Parts: sequence; structure tokens; C-alpha cells
Amino acid sequence: MFHFDKLSAPVLGLTGLDAALSEEERSIQDVCNRFAREVMRPIGEKLDKMSAEEVIAPESPLWDYLKQMEETGILDLEALGAMSDEEKSRIIPIIFEELAWGDVGLAMTMMVLKFPAFAAYNSGNPELIERFGKLRGCWAATQPDRGSDMVDLDASEVFPGSNQGRGNIVARLEGDELVINGQTSAWVSATPIAECALLYCQCDYGDGVHHKDGGLNYTAVLVPFDLEGVSKGKPLEKLGMRSLCQGEVYFDEVRVPKSYVLEGQDSAYGSFFGALTFGNMEMGISFTGVARAAYEHALEYVHERKQGGATLIEHQGVRTRIFDLFRKVESCRAMAQRVFAYNYGPNGANLAASIASKTFVTQTAYEVTSDALQLFGGNGLTTEYPLEKLLRDARAALIADGENNVLTLKGGTLISNAYQQNN
Ligand SMILES: Cc1cc2nc3c(=O)[nH]c(=O)nc-3n(C[C@H](O)[C@H](O)[C@H](O)COP(=O)(O)OP(=O)(O)OC[C@H]3O[C@@H](n4cnc5c(N)ncnc54)[C@H](O)[C@@H]3O)c2cc1C
Repeated sequence: MFHFDKLSAPVLGLTGLDAALSEEERSIQDVCNRFAREVMRPIGEKLDKMSAEEVIAPESPLWDYLKQMEETGILDLEALGAMSDEEKSRIIPIIFEELAWGDVGLAMTMMVLKFPAFAAYNSGNPELIERFGKLRGCWAATQPDRGSDMVDLDASEVFPGSNQGRGNIVARLEGDELVINGQTSAWVSATPIAECALLYCQCDYGDGVHHKDGGLNYTAVLVPFDLEGVSKGKPLEKLGMRSLCQGEVYFDEVRVPKSYVLEGQDSAYGSFFGALTFGNMEMGISFTGVARAAYEHALEYVHERKQGGATLIEHQGVRTRIFDLFRKVESCRAMAQRVFAYNYGPNGANLAASIASKTFVTQTAYEVTSDALQLFGGNGLTTEYPLEKLLRDARAALIADGENNVLTLKGGTLISNAYQQNN
């Protein structure tokens, strides 16, 4: 039994009810928090108010952020790669909650920029590491006619009796080269500042792009943007996560050496779903950081603002609303960290686990940012206060990295498959 001499306030760390952070973990958390507070948050706020063109212009503070982030070494790929699975499962969530707490668009920018380099290192191929290891990159999966269909790459959710569309990008194998034509969606993150892509696209290996089971033949290939025939669209204007730029990439008879293909006909699906599993897991912890930022702003505000003859927090109704935000942020973190532990644990990573985290946390973060904004009254709606930005950032997350309803459908299929295997 627990016993208290008196009912005292809980001891809360940066991340709430944390009881078991090691000294090393706490110091990583402190470094990330300081960088997020002093560098990311002010730059993220500036970028949010700029046009999409201004965000990527040479004089934009985005470049200062990228330079400073590299100097911190926080996301050094070799250091992260050298960690044990257990360390990754504990330290990566600590890092990303703090960075996204500072500015989620900037946290995602850095992660996406490193995606192709990370894939090159993972391949262990010295040619790819040399060519792509230092390039800024993007993760190009969706196309104008293949948004949710991309999330359903294995076509398990197609309408009965139908096939998925052929899409907009097709590669064909010609001798030692892959020849690519078509365009990505306008939503490929970091494209306007990227120098290469990890591209997932339909591929004709000699017998067409359609697969007999209703899906498509795919390839996962690293494409440098200095090849002839590659061009980019304009950066996209959008509602939230405005510090994370997006845009199309166009391919016109782009000839890529076959050695840049990471995964071919038999393994591209697995590679795509692996990337989605990692991305969804990251979204879960990142939007825990966004929800926490909104909760903390609200907590501070209700201790300052007076209405009804008292500070807002003195009103009982407000205290219940604050506690509701607190427990939702704790639930987000518990879910996100649990899924990191599962994915790096003995059963191996699973998409259903990551979908549970991404969909739950982003939906909850959207509720938390909206309810926190409500506590600011009219001030919450103005650009003078941080809440309206956080609400817009959280809104974008219900669609980014897979729209939540489609992800939930996919998750339901996977859970049903597990049930059927066990019974
Ligand atoms: C901020 C942001 C960042 C992004 N970054 C990237 C990136 O880095 N790389 C990249 O490749 N893409 C990226 N995307 C694209 C993103 O993955 C897609 O927007 C998402 O998968 C949804 O596709 P869509 O926009 O084409 O919507 P659609 O697929 O057209 O969906 C429209 C609606 O139809 C519903 N729907 C669709 N299919 C079904 C179905 N089978 N059953 C029931 N309902 C269905 C959906 O639920 C949705 O509400 C990003 C998007 C955003 C918003």
C-alpha cells in the first residue's frame, strides 16, 4: 500500500510522469530541449508566417536551422545506427518528442532529409554511401493518382472486383538502367530543398506494371536530382506544418544506374511498409511533443489570465479541463513509447503497432491543441499566441504519412489477420 503524510503535488519532469530516465537519457533530453526552445521554436514561428517560396529562399532562417542542427550532432546517423535496439527504443523517442515540441515541421524536415542517406548506409553498399551519404533527400512515395492507394500498396483494401489505378510514375528496366517517367504528388516533403529521393514507384520488369493480385509491381530506388530529366514543381502552400516544405518531382526519361535500386520486384513492398512503419512510429512520438507544447502553453495561460474575479485556474471547471489535457498528453506518450519498445523488441517491428500510435496520438493531439486553444478564448485564435499554429500543425498530421481512416482500415485488417492466424 502507498502511504502519504500529506497529499503532495507530483514530481514532474520535462516529459511528465517519467520515473525511470537514466542520467544519460536525461542529459540527451536536456540538450534536445534547449535546442528546441532556443533555436527551433523561434525559427519555426518565423517560417510559419512566411510564404512557401520564402521558406526555401537562400536568406530563409531554415538554412540557419539546418546548419545548427548538423552542428549539434543530435541526429548523427552513424551514432544512432551504432545504438543497440534497446537504446534506440528509449532514446529516439526522447529526441523526437523534444524536437517536435520545439517545432514539428522542422523536426520532420531533418528526419526526411536524412531518409535516403539512411537507406544508403543501411544497404552497406560503399558506392551508394559515397553517392548519397551526404545528400539532402526526400521520401517520394505518393503520386497524384496514388495517395491512399500507396498506403494500401498490397491492395488488400481495393473495392471488390477492381484493381488499383496504374498511377503517374512508371520505371522500366532497360539493360543496366532504370528509365523513369512521370511525377510525384505535390506532397513529397522537403522536395524543394532536396538533392535526391528515395523513390517508390511502379516498375515494368518486362511483363507490365499490374500484379496478378490487383496491386502493382514496384521498385525502391535512390535517384539523384542532378540527373538529366529531373525537375521540380513550386513549393506548396498549406494549412499547417508550414516549416516542412513540399512539392512535386518530375521525371522525363530519367536514366538511373541499376545499382541505385535498393529493392526490386520481390522486396519493394516490404521496404515500403518498413518505411511506413518507421514513419508512423515517429509521427506518434512527434505529435506527443506537439500536444505537450499546447498543454504547457494552456497551463501557463490559465495561471495568468483573470476572469470572473480570479485567475482562470481558480475556477473548478478550468482545473478539470487542464487535467484532461494532462492525461491525454500522458496517454499519447505511453502509446508512442510502447510502440517504440514493441518495434525494437523481440517480435520485430509491425505496421499495426505503428498505426495504433500514429492514429491515436495525432487524433488526440488535434483534440488537445483545440481544447488548449479554447482555454485561451479569443486570444487562442490570433497569430499573436502560439495555439492556432499548433492546431494547424496537428490538423495536418491527420493526413500526413497516411490518412488516418485508411491507416485504421489497414490496421483492422492486420489485427484480424493476427486473430485468424491464432484461431
Ligand atoms: C504534411 C504532409 C506531408 C506529407 N509528406 C509526404 C512525403 O514526404 N512523401 C510522400 O510520398 N507523401 C507525403 N504526403 C502525402 C500523404 O501521404 C497523402 O496525402 C495521404 O496518403 C493521403 O492521400 P491523398 O491526399 O491523395 O488523399 P486520398 O487518397 O485521395 O483520400 C481522400 C479521402 O478518401 C478516403 N479514402 C481513400 N481511399 C479509401 C479507401 N480505400 N477506403 C475508404 N476511404 C478511402 C480517405 O480516407 C480520405 O479521407 C504528405 C501529406 C501531408 C499532408
